[in-house]
Amino acid sequence: MSRTNVIYPPCYARALGDCSGKLSREHYISASILELLGDSHTITNASWLASGQQSDQLPTSALGSKILCQRHNASLSPLDEHAKVFFTELLTALSDDEEVPHSPGFRGKRSASEGEGRSRLDFPLIHDV
Ligand SMILES: [Zn+2]
Repeated sequence: MSRTNVIYPPCYARALGDCSGKLSREHYISASILELLGDSHTITNASWLASGQQSDQLPTSALGSKILCQRHNASLSPLDEHAKVFFTELLTALSDDEEVPHSPGFRGKRSASEGEGRSRLDFPLIHDV
């Protein structure tokens, strides 16, 4: 696929300079991973919440926004599939542990006290987006 050489300012991947001209809905964290973590999620440390505030329970569908052009969104789809396979295996391997390990920018924690199918997501590095 040839490069478009288009920079679409609202696209989060615009620095790559290969945009299409229309935004599409994308989850900040892969929807397939969110679905593995549960049916509903609470958010803390996001820029739209006060310090220490926790969101209401939100469905996975509520955790997306129009942040990527269609071209960049489509180009990330294979990565989403790989992430789903990786996290499925990771969660299976850690199925006896309550806490899911995290990268420096993401903490997902299964909380038995919140009930089956729910997760708590912490977004410490998304403040300035
Ligand atoms: Zn783009």
